[in-house]
Amino acid sequence: MPAYDFICKDCKKEFTAFYSIGEYQANPAIRCPLCGSDNIQRKFSGVFAKTSKKS
Ligand SMILES: [Zn+2]
Repeated sequence: MPAYDFICKDCKKEFTAFYSIGEYQANPAIRCPLCGSDNIQRKFSGVFAKTSKKS
């Protein structure tokens, strides 16, 4: 099962979440385990995690 590294933009903490590919795509609402924010950025590959689209 792949691990995804994220960083929380609110509290600046890094964390790792484990998801299967299908699980990740089906349940993209990643939240910071520390502060509960969904303002999360994926760390690797320069790909941004899907968060709320405000722009
Ligand atoms: Zn946080």
